[in-house]
Amino acid sequence: MNKNLEQLIELSKLNQQIDEIGPQIKAHEHKLEKKASQIEGIKLDFERTKQTIADTQISVKTNNTHLKELNKKLKEITKKTNKLKTQKEVNAVQIEEDIARQSISFTNDEIERLQNIVQLKKTQNKERQEKIKEEKKLHDDMTKVVKLEIKELNAKIDEINKVKSTLSQKVDAKLLVFYESIENWAKETAVVKVRNKACYGCFMKLDNKTYSMLKLENEVVNCDNCGRIIYLDDEKKLD
Ligand SMILES: [Zn+2]
Repeated sequence: MNKNLEQLIELSKLNQQIDEIGPQIKAHEHKLEKKASQIEGIKLDFERTKQTIADTQISVKTNNTHLKELNKKLKEITKKTNKLKTQKEVNAVQIEEDIARQSISFTNDEIERLQNIVQLKKTQNKERQEKIKEEKKLHDDMTKVVKLEIKELNAKIDEINKVKSTLSQKVDAKLLVFYESIENWAKETAVVKVRNKACYGCFMKLDNKTYSMLKLENEVVNCDNCGRIIYLDDEKKLD
């Protein structure tokens, strides 16, 4: 194979290697972000529950005030009963007393219900606090590992770039400029193989003239459709 072409293929392969590392780094970062947002979610639940506890405690207080008033009222009704003369008056006060007692009973139930909610929510938040602590520790451990992994991947990129730079110096200067002008838009697919007469960059069939030039292997050939640098796939060369 043409030496120039071989070098360009190698350059393109190095670019592909760099290109594959990017998503690996992103995947690591994503893992950390996912864990962090999981912790944020628990924190949000914690804060919301804290607000519910505060609101419920205010309701308990209001109900307690109401209960005091009801008890005061009941006492007054009891006092009144002693001064009553007619049966009609007794009956009327009796109804008043029943209503007051019912209200007291209802308010007591309500206070108990609200206090149970406060208790439950407090337990839930205590569990959340533990969970946040655990998840934070996991996140910290994960961060250490991920940072190391990303560092290694970046070192790999540096290493490939070094090889690329050494190789670039060997490539004919004019050809390198040409290659880089294609690389600018085609990225890691600047140099692609041809199989069954089709360019593996744009997947269009080459015209006969281009294909004949490609078979001669004398010079660097471009796809007549997309302009990428093309070469014959080794496996297909024999046919
Ligand atoms: Zn093409």
